Amino acid sequence: MRRPDLHLHTTASDGRYDVWQVARMVQRADVTLFSITDHDTMAALPAAADAAYERGLAFLPGVEISTEGDDEVHVLGYGVKYDDPVLADFFQKMRQERMDRVRRVGQKLEELGMKLPVEEIIANAGSSVGRPHLGRALAERGYVKDTPEAFDRFIGRGKPAYVPRITPSAAEAIALLKSRGAVPVLAHPQEIRWTMDCLLQKLDEWQDAGLMGLEVYHPANREHYAVWDAIARKRGLLVTGGSDFHTEGDKHSLIGATAGEWPDALHDAWKLFRISQK
Ligand SMILES: [Zn+2]
Ligand SMILES: [Zn+2]
Repeated sequence: MRRPDLHLHTTASDGRYDVWQVARMVQRADVTLFSITDHDTMAALPAAADAAYERGLAFLPGVEISTEGDDEVHVLGYGVKYDDPVLADFFQKMRQERMDRVRRVGQKLEELGMKLPVEEIIANAGSSVGRPHLGRALAERGYVKDTPEAFDRFIGRGKPAYVPRITPSAAEAIALLKSRGAVPVLAHPQEIRWTMDCLLQKLDEWQDAGLMGLEVYHPANREHYAVWDAIARKRGLLVTGGSDFHTEGDKHSLIGATAGEWPDALHDAWKLFRISQK
């Protein structure tokens, strides 16, 4: 195992490439252990396991759960069993919530004079439709020049077509993953908008709920790797990392990129792999 990348998205959520394409790109990037962690769905995992087997890559099934509503705290789960009925039911409920939200955002956009084929977008979006799909549709129709502008002007938090999300709490997601035999890891802590004091307090609470790891080597943490690495190790949390790859051309999240910045990548990733197989 040379380079791990434990955070990758596919078309099953809001990634641009399907699992076969991602597996090919993973191999091209010299990544030898990878995890697919789509938002609130395990839909890509069976095919990902096949693609990994075909290419002789080590694969760790994963998922990224959206929690805390608007505060967007993401919880990664490693070693999930993709035929787990309890998790399947949980993600089905989240999927329904996502669709309802997209419909409500679509309604608001229509009131603003921008009509989108929302049902078609939902049908084509894979297992977890979200605002990026609406952003792309707005750009395709020339209402905005790109997805960031769509968020900035219309669908981002506090903008005229914004609708808040209703999601489980991070503690609930952590406890659920733990109860299903998966390893719960807090994703990209630097992206959480809370103060450091508040976050550290929450870490106590989440560790009580079963949190086992911290995603230190993520592009969002780049300026603060040493801080998060020390926090994780001091608390006895597993250290994980990944690119959070969604699409090519995004300089901040190239497949395998964070592995080169992660001094103990090999050792840390192997530890997670081993624990999640138990
Ligand atoms: Zn995330
Ligand atoms: Zn992600």
